[in-house]
Amino acid sequence: MPLTDVEVILPLPLPGSFTYRLPADLKSNIGVGYRVIVPLGPKKIYTGIISGFHERKLEYAPKYVLDVLDDAPIVNASQLDFFTWLASYYMCTIGEVINAALPSALKLSSQSFISIQDNVNPDDLDLEEREWRLLRSLKESERSLADVSGIVDLKHPQRLIKKLVEKGLIDVYEKVKDRYQPKKVKKVRLNHLLTEEKELETLFEQLASKTKQLDVLLAYLRVVPVLEDSKANHPGILKSSLLSEDISASSLKTLVKNNVFEEWDEVVSRLEDTPSTHSEPIQLSELQQKALEEIHQSFQSHRVTLLHGVTGSGKTEVYIELIKEQLKSGGQVLYLLPEIALTTQIISRLHRVFGNTFGVYHSRYSDNERVEVWKKVLNQEYQFIVGVRSAVFLPFDRLGLILVDEEHETSYKQFEPAPRYHARDAAIYLATLHDAHVLLGTATPALETYQNALDGKYGLVELDQRFGESHAPAIHFANLLKERKRKKMKGNFSSTLFEAIEAALEKKEQVILFQNRRGYASYISCESCAHIPKCPNCAVSLTYHQFNHKLVCHYCGFNQPMLTDCTNCGSKELRNVGFGTEELEEELKILFPTAIVQRMDLDTTRSKYGYQRIIEAFEEGEIDILVGTQMVSKGLDFDHVNLVGVFDADRMIHFPDFRSHERAYQLIMQVSGRAGRKSQNGKVIVQTNDPEQPVLERVRDGNYRHFFQWEILEREGFVYPPFCRIIRMVFKHREKQTSLEGAKFFSQELRKGMGTSPIIGPVEPIIGKIRNQYLHEITLKIAKKGINLAAVKDYLWSCEKIMRQHPAFKSVGLVFDVDPM
Ligand code: ADP
Ligand code: ZN
Ligand code: ZN
Repeated sequence: MPLTDVEVILPLPLPGSFTYRLPADLKSNIGVGYRVIVPLGPKKIYTGIISGFHERKLEYAPKYVLDVLDDAPIVNASQLDFFTWLASYYMCTIGEVINAALPSALKLSSQSFISIQDNVNPDDLDLEEREWRLLRSLKESERSLADVSGIVDLKHPQRLIKKLVEKGLIDVYEKVKDRYQPKKVKKVRLNHLLTEEKELETLFEQLASKTKQLDVLLAYLRVVPVLEDSKANHPGILKSSLLSEDISASSLKTLVKNNVFEEWDEVVSRLEDTPSTHSEPIQLSELQQKALEEIHQSFQSHRVTLLHGVTGSGKTEVYIELIKEQLKSGGQVLYLLPEIALTTQIISRLHRVFGNTFGVYHSRYSDNERVEVWKKVLNQEYQFIVGVRSAVFLPFDRLGLILVDEEHETSYKQFEPAPRYHARDAAIYLATLHDAHVLLGTATPALETYQNALDGKYGLVELDQRFGESHAPAIHFANLLKERKRKKMKGNFSSTLFEAIEAALEKKEQVILFQNRRGYASYISCESCAHIPKCPNCAVSLTYHQFNHKLVCHYCGFNQPMLTDCTNCGSKELRNVGFGTEELEEELKILFPTAIVQRMDLDTTRSKYGYQRIIEAFEEGEIDILVGTQMVSKGLDFDHVNLVGVFDADRMIHFPDFRSHERAYQLIMQVSGRAGRKSQNGKVIVQTNDPEQPVLERVRDGNYRHFFQWEILEREGFVYPPFCRIIRMVFKHREKQTSLEGAKFFSQELRKGMGTSPIIGPVEPIIGKIRNQYLHEITLKIAKKGINLAAVKDYLWSCEKIMRQHPAFKSVGLVFDVDPM
């Protein structure tokens, strides 16, 4: 069959795919999912993915595919279906999905290259010095733009290049470079002709007077027992490890030059090889066994099942059983975790059971490491992947089971950039494509999920007791208003919490403190004029970071040195308002001078292993008090923590968002779940101005179903999810007025077609300006029943089109956020 034209998806925010023609010589080994290099516009070159073939007659001659990059597809057909669905459901282009899905090393970059015309000889021409220098060097090989800069010693060589192009002496073209570089190590070994005893003896004699070279040889033979077994020489050793033996690098070099040693590059995996320490299999408890059986039953009638298990009930052990079963039956497993914070402990638990048979995919991995995981899934080397939300993009071809741990976590939702997908919901669609099962696990389900379970859409399995002897922790409230009145507060610590920490430290127990805000103070305010320094790019107040004495914007990263006096009135009395993890850390050091305090937040865990190091130190008992943001609330399993303290509950509860009750409840319950996991006296102290407020009543009660029944009434009354769907539109522009007018124009169009659905806005969001762009939002609520969602989305696209036709709003940025969080 002559395949003539191909459809190619480019990793760009352009709708649809592009048609290219295949040159005859590329037609043989090619198919859907192969990467090709194609031109776009006069100069640009991109890598795209073939999404299909067709032979229909075109009215124009398409451009040709320039090259094929792969010998086998790197994206499979079911992935393409999945990506198409993501684009359509989350209202973005498939190019944007591909762009997010592929590790960037699989997307080639295009770069300008310069080469000399064949027949040009620079020495024959009358040239300026720079021109001559460049042409001479191009005679040797083509050069990148950056190279040219260096050669002619000009920061911007474009004018020079242009001149030479006009004279017909050089060509400029785009070239794609494969960014994926396999990892190589330098290795060394003895020349294989010298490994027999006789040759070695001769060698020793030859080197007798060259003591430094002799040292090298001896060092090598100490590590590699060539004399006992000449085959031991073959794999060689790392050059770096030989050099660490205190020998001279130049002597080694000489030996290599004289063919005594061989040096070569070896390709190695970037993925860490953790020794597999298979541990004793765990016996499921009776309750866990029962839950497992119920899950099996539920799988027979439901695609999705919710495992609602209180913290410490052993959900992870149940997952492990399910994974084992799935791997035995030959299906692939995807185990999703909300963020890197959770992976450390769980991965070491999984290593103990599964050794090195699974892959890990997360954001702290380098791009090259991600490519290696991608390829191992493609080559069937990994049947089982543990990862964060982007792991849904991996090239699975026969998924049998998807586990979504802590399914309620908002970090499953991608905010920026498109696709603004929710990994839990995307996973459910992914499972449909593979006819796989999904198990959602959590102690505090999302309201939407629990409603689906009650409606029978999802199966529901419950584990309502902690494993072993452990009980749910006792929850106490420290009344801050009363304590302040009686002057019993010590800084930000109530006497209740202070005394509990004292008691815990005395018993050599560890303490976790939760404050959902990093930095030092939430903001700085002038005592005399109340001025608050704000970020010049965003409408948010700057946060004071004590460790570097800076005011930092947490939205755009803008920072400046801490002010000494008010920029408004000059007063020197600037006060810290609110407090963050860093300030708590400082206070703790004063209040408990002998305790070892560690902070865990974005600032202390930026490095790849930053998080792991803190967790391990805490596990080893090297830390007494761990103070952190929501990072400390999730999934962590420590044996010696009985006390957990929660700061700032009120701010979480009163955050202006319809989900704030749900979030506050989930966070407090989750962080409480870290207390007393291996004992019977777990204790949680929540600091609040009002212990009687309804959300805290539910926390005290501890039964999720009671919380659900109370909160769901509110959602129903005000028509919020799960009683409707929400699509949010965010308009952005450098001019506030343009952003607002564009949003108004759009909302008028919207009202014409969606008259019966509630439309809120345009309103200015809480943070009305980000990175110098003014924002306005429109929120569309769509009834769950009787409305065709796809038709609504089409209508939204048409409204955008109409808005774009208006010259004033051409440049207004518009983002659709489907199911915003
Ligand atoms: P969850 O994920 O529900 O919070 P975990 O799976 O982390 O609970 O279990 C809590 C603790 O109890 C862990 O330390 C785990 O190793 C232990 N545990 C749970 N089930 C068992 C079991 N059947 N046998 C031994 N230990 C268990
Ligand atoms: Zn002032
Ligand atoms: Zn900013």
